[in-house]
Amino acid sequence: MALVTTTEMFKKAYSGGYAIGAFNVNNMEIVQGITEAAGEFNSPVILQVSKGARAYANHTYLVKLVEAAVQENPDIPMALHLDHGDSFEICKSCIDGGFTSVMIDCSSMPFEDNVKITKQVVDYAHDHGVVVEAELGTLAGVEDEVSVEHGSESYTHPDEVEEFVTRTGCDSLAIAIGTSHGAYKFKASQCTRNEEGILVPPPLRFDILEECIRRLPGFPIVLHGSSSVPQEFVKIVNQYGGNMPDAIGIPEAELRHAAELAVCKINIDSDIRLAMTATIRKYMAEHPDHFDPRQYLKPARQAVKDMVAHKIQNVLGSAGKA
Ligand SMILES: [Zn+2]
Repeated sequence: MALVTTTEMFKKAYSGGYAIGAFNVNNMEIVQGITEAAGEFNSPVILQVSKGARAYANHTYLVKLVEAAVQENPDIPMALHLDHGDSFEICKSCIDGGFTSVMIDCSSMPFEDNVKITKQVVDYAHDHGVVVEAELGTLAGVEDEVSVEHGSESYTHPDEVEEFVTRTGCDSLAIAIGTSHGAYKFKASQCTRNEEGILVPPPLRFDILEECIRRLPGFPIVLHGSSSVPQEFVKIVNQYGGNMPDAIGIPEAELRHAAELAVCKINIDSDIRLAMTATIRKYMAEHPDHFDPRQYLKPARQAVKDMVAHKIQNVLGSAGKA
């Protein structure tokens, strides 16, 4: 199977009450870890590349790594997606360069400008057999070049979604219902603390999601910033010389519920970073004499695979759906 668009994936995910994981890729070990898990659990998967990933690893390397993963997993539907394209030009260069899906994110612009640029990307993408994700509302947090301060985020206004989708022709829509980018998703002042002193985030705004679903029946919704920042990994990082105070994420039960509704794509990046870093920190501390990068990257790759396998089975519900 060659790379596919997300059209068929989303159709099945919507009617089946599950979501497709969209995992950010930056190097070979990450591509391998994700796609080995997708292969083993027979799950469709979206590999996504941010502007920062292209700056780090180079567009061609990333596309070729993903092509290798497709060749190694011929039975798994895989899409290659641009995460947070911020201009027509970057979207065009990915559409021309082998991606099957792009996101145009003009969510920080006024509504009319967002409509105009999104429509321009949609017209070009659809002419080339590529699908487009757009965004309404802004998430807080930091993700590569996207950075929005806490307090400046804004929930999606459900009364805008129908007009936006109709006028732009976008294929899926990212909305803001309280998820957030990065490993520090919430300020302590927004949260309560449990008996262990761990921050408990405010619940997602399912009322906004449900209103969007009512206005866009059958239309695939996307959630960004949906890592859960598992505390066992934060603990390992901190135990082995790291310093990640108050890193928290979105509870997995809330994401599972969203996946049962119209959310067809859930973006997960920080959890992969965290799993790799925790594993490498622990390995380095326990093997101070090792210096072959393969020695620590091998368990790091396994940690990516285990994390993605867990998400596929317990959060997304996409196991066996390839
Ligand atoms: Zn995002």
